[in-house]
Amino acid sequence: MAQTPATPALGPAKALVCRECGASAALGPHYACEECFGPLEISYDFGDVTRAGIEAGPANIWRYRGLLPVPPNVIDTPNTEPGWTRLVRADHLAESLGIRTLWVKDDSGNPTHSFKDRVVGVALAAARELGFKVLACPSTGNLANAVAAAAARAGIRSAVFVPSNLEEQKIITTAVYGGTFVTVDGNYDDVNRLASEIAGEQDDWAFVNVNVRPYYAEGSKTLGYEIAEQLGWRLPDQIVIPVASGSQLTKIDKAFQEFIKLGLVEDKPYRVFGAQALGCSPIAAAFKAGHDVVRPVKPDTIAKSLAIGNPADGPYVLDVARRTGGAVEDVTDAEVVEGIQLLARTEGIFGETAGGVTVATLRKLVQTGLLDPDAETVIINSGDGLKTLNAVAPVARPSADIAPTLEAFRASGLA
Ligand SMILES: *Cc1c(COP(=O)(O)O)cnc(C)c1O
Ligand SMILES: [Zn+2]
Repeated sequence: MAQTPATPALGPAKALVCRECGASAALGPHYACEECFGPLEISYDFGDVTRAGIEAGPANIWRYRGLLPVPPNVIDTPNTEPGWTRLVRADHLAESLGIRTLWVKDDSGNPTHSFKDRVVGVALAAARELGFKVLACPSTGNLANAVAAAAARAGIRSAVFVPSNLEEQKIITTAVYGGTFVTVDGNYDDVNRLASEIAGEQDDWAFVNVNVRPYYAEGSKTLGYEIAEQLGWRLPDQIVIPVASGSQLTKIDKAFQEFIKLGLVEDKPYRVFGAQALGCSPIAAAFKAGHDVVRPVKPDTIAKSLAIGNPADGPYVLDVARRTGGAVEDVTDAEVVEGIQLLARTEGIFGETAGGVTVATLRKLVQTGLLDPDAETVIINSGDGLKTLNAVAPVARPSADIAPTLEAFRASGLA
């Protein structure tokens, strides 16, 4: 059994609160409400958080430790120190889409090249304080990379479970860290169910996105904080976010709300858009149908990092999109490949399939008039194209193959 301290030292985190019925529970290794089985979320008692205090912090997510459920000494404990990735002004992409002001938050710059290092960083810090011994997860790929690397850095065991049809690049970039690594003959939703069952038996295993999910999820807030800080302490008008479970999207919104409440940015309206691949778009389908519940689907898309057919945060994504005047849209796999190419060719940023989904969705939102081309927009590139090479391999080839002679080059017509 995990040896959890009676009052875990988790910074400003004060309790766990049910997102469905509002019942509260003490901070601890809990994730489901005892009253209604709804998901638990962290509630806080923020101290005096100032721009200057944040700016004096390190160039990673721990500059926001006063807003996260982590021990105060997190800064001195081995972790992968993710975050503070670049926010790139994307004028060429903007021009090609007819948008006035566009930024790319490029989270491929994290230690294992996806936004998942943020959530794992927070989950690891909280899991250690809660007394867990092993860092584990079911994963669509990037989370496996991040968990295996973070556990290696922390000097603890990892145990990750992935669908066996995962991209070869993601298998290698997980196995290299040397933890326990199991491929499962099933899709992500099968792997996720198996992980919940294992978590029920191995109670000193922290499955970051299952039994420590309330802590894990808070890590995504740092994306929202960084965007606001990097824009010069203000919020964008519109943001387009890739959606798998929907955790990232809902927590970016939470981050913007917290910054407004803390007076760190001016209160203003902003619109949140979700991006999915048509081969796994249960939330976009519910949005378009006007439903409040999300009907699970069987994923079939090249965007494997987003291939969650039964998304845990689906209804909350619908809430955020509707409350802010945004939308959830989906794009075909062919459009995903075009999106990857468009981002690479206009901005020199090679995103993974999730980035392709986001760029293609942005294009579709402009075409359909749902997104205002004159309002300042941020999109998230959440992962690195080097991990999903097969998606673009057929369309990314050399211009010519020639003999090593000047004649051959001239004859190629490429001069
Ligand atoms: C996991 C993941 C997402 C989406 O995450 P959720 O919080 O589950 O919606 C987006 N992009 C990439 C690259 C991911 O790995
Ligand atoms: Zn409840």
